[in-house]
Order: sequence, then C-alpha cells, then structure tokens
Amino acid sequence: MPDRYLFKEIEVRTDAYKAQHPDARLLRMGVGDVTQPLPAAVIEAMHKAVDELAHVETFRGYGPEEGYAWLRQAVIDHEYTPRGIRLDIDEVFISEGAGSDLGNLSELFLPSNRVAILDPSYPAYMDGSIMAGREVIHLPCTIANGFVPELPKQKADIIYLCLPNNPTGTVLRRHELQQWVNYAIENQSIIIFDAAYEAYIEEDDVPHSIYELEGAKQVAIEVRSFSKSAGFTAVRCGYTVVPKETGLNAMWLRRQCTKYNGTAYVAQRAAQATFTPEGKQGIAANLAYYKRTAHLIADGLTALGYKVYGGKNAPYIWCKTPDTMDSWTFFDLLLHQCQVVCTPGAGFGDAGQGFVRFSAFSNRKDVEEALQRMKKL
Ligand code: PLP
Repeated sequence: MPDRYLFKEIEVRTDAYKAQHPDARLLRMGVGDVTQPLPAAVIEAMHKAVDELAHVETFRGYGPEEGYAWLRQAVIDHEYTPRGIRLDIDEVFISEGAGSDLGNLSELFLPSNRVAILDPSYPAYMDGSIMAGREVIHLPCTIANGFVPELPKQKADIIYLCLPNNPTGTVLRRHELQQWVNYAIENQSIIIFDAAYEAYIEEDDVPHSIYELEGAKQVAIEVRSFSKSAGFTAVRCGYTVVPKETGLNAMWLRRQCTKYNGTAYVAQRAAQATFTPEGKQGIAANLAYYKRTAHLIADGLTALGYKVYGGKNAPYIWCKTPDTMDSWTFFDLLLHQCQVVCTPGAGFGDAGQGFVRFSAFSNRKDVEEALQRMKKL
C-alpha cells in the first residue's frame, strides 16, 4: 500500500508548489469535492435543528444507532419505492457518509474471504482490503474492454462495484449488471454496491439501484451518500441498505450498535430536507451545474486532442495522458506549467497508469481558464 493516501499526496505536492509560487492561481480539478453551496431548504433545516438543541423542551441526546425513522422512511419513499423496490425500514442504516461504511462492512466477513476490486477504482476499496489483510483479485478496466470489467475467473467472496464508476465514469446497462448479480448468486458472493454517483446517471437503461435487478436483495449491500448528490461532503450523511435476505442485516445492526453511536442529529435533519420539494429543486440546480461542467471539460479536452472517457453519467473525466507519459509526470506537468490540479490515474490502481482524472466539481470559470492554459501548453 502506498505510504500516503492518494489525495493526501496530491495535497502535499500542490502545497509544495504553492509555497514556492505564492502568487500562482491554482485551478483545482483534482479532488472530487463539491463546490456549490447547500440548497436554502437544507440550511434552514440545519438552523432549526440547532435551535431545537438549544431548548430543554426540544433538546435531543443520542439518537438510534441506525438513524431516525423519519429519515429512513424518507429514503425508502423517495429513493426506492418510486423505482419499484420494496424495503423494510430496518434494512436502511443512516451513516456519516459512504466512506466509513465501505471500510467497516469488511468486518462482516472472514479475513480469508477474497475480494474482487475494479482496477482502477476509488482507493478506499483497495486500501481498506489491504488493511483488513485480504487477498485481492484485480479486475482491470481498460480501453481494450471499454472499461467494463470481466466477471472474476476465481471465486470472489466480496465484490466492490462502484457504478457510475469513479474514476472512469463507466456505467453498466441493466443486462450487464444482472450478470454480476447472477455471478454473486451462483458463487455465494456479496456485492458491495457503491452508488455514490447515482444522481449523475443520464441514460434510461442504467440502473440507479442494484435492487432494480432480479435476485439482488439476496446478494447486495448498497452504499449511498448525500455527499455528491446533495453537496454534503462537509455535513456528512449517507445510508447503507443491508437487506435481510443477505443474512447480514442483524450482524450489521449489532456492529453499528457496538461501534457507531449514530449520525449527528443536525446532519440527519439536513438530509431529510433534501427530500422536500424546495430541497429537490436546489439539488437539481446544483447537479445540472456539475453535469454541464462535466460536458464542458470532456468537450474541451477532446477539442485539444486528448482522448477522454466518462463525463457522462458521472462527474469525472478520465483522460489518456499524451504519448506514453505516466500519470504523475503529467500531473506534475499540468501543475507546474498550467497551475492546473488533476488526479493521477495511477493512484486508482495499476490499470490507471497513463491516465489522469479531471473533476467536474469545479468552478465553471476556472474550468474555462484551465482549458485555455492547457491549449497554450
Ligand atoms: N464512494 C466513492 C466512489 C467516492 O468517490 C467517495 C468520495 O469521493 C465516497 C464513496 C465517499 O463519500 P462520503 O463523502 O459519503 O464518505
């Protein structure tokens, strides 16, 4: 495992450059962190929740470890029921975001269980699996296979699937994802389905939830987050669905009650407000902004002669480096020559070598200027 977490390494290199060039105006298109402010309805809900905590009549202490029923029910009513998915309220667990649950879920499995991970992918799966001492099966996603992974050849007990994918932007169509569910049923595997970017799906035959597929409730845990859909990277709230049919629901509740004392009340009220008509409207406006930015980056880089993937169904653009330049060399070149920060693809896995990722979570004007600077380069 690399000594430093990918995004820490980027921060260190960027800070070092900034220290040497204090007047440089860096254009950040690296870390996948939202930039648009929270919708007014969410801010109001948080103010109200804080005020409740200020008065003895409305004060609250510890909440349920698995989250307040009003939020869990809102998740079911707004995210699952409209897609024809039936969930019981005790199958939904509110979290402080996807990041921790993606790692913590590992505790439900034997250390000897083998894990399959897409390469490249969000580093938490690989780093977390190494920390848990697991054997890892790499599933390369390359230009040759259109970034669509093949089913594991050996038996995988745990499969991390992130769709739409970070960093490649890949999505699987309904029939493609069904093959993974079928594999998991045949092999008694569990799929940990990271749907952090579900809100960016633009095409009709791309499932928003793995539970849209037949049999998925037996074999899939779905992890979701308000971070990238509603701008909650600072607020911290998400949820994880552990269907009873997986046989893991009671164990996850037991784990959470022991090791997690619940998500902050104010964050849960904020999350609840995302489901109000005003909240939905504000979120839709932010998502439209990021989606337009993604298209702008993809089109702009293509016009400059780069080979790009993603940027559709996902806020990330996966860009082939020029010639055979390695990812970190191109990162340094863009940082030093254009003062543009991207993310080196090699940080997402060996198959990410020779790529960089651009994030659409950027100020539109900065993106335009970054493209101008790259044009000069
Ligand atoms: N999953 C993926 C694929 C991500 O890209 C990220 C964050 O960038 C996360 C999970 C973590 O999200 P959260 O803020 O909910 O912890």
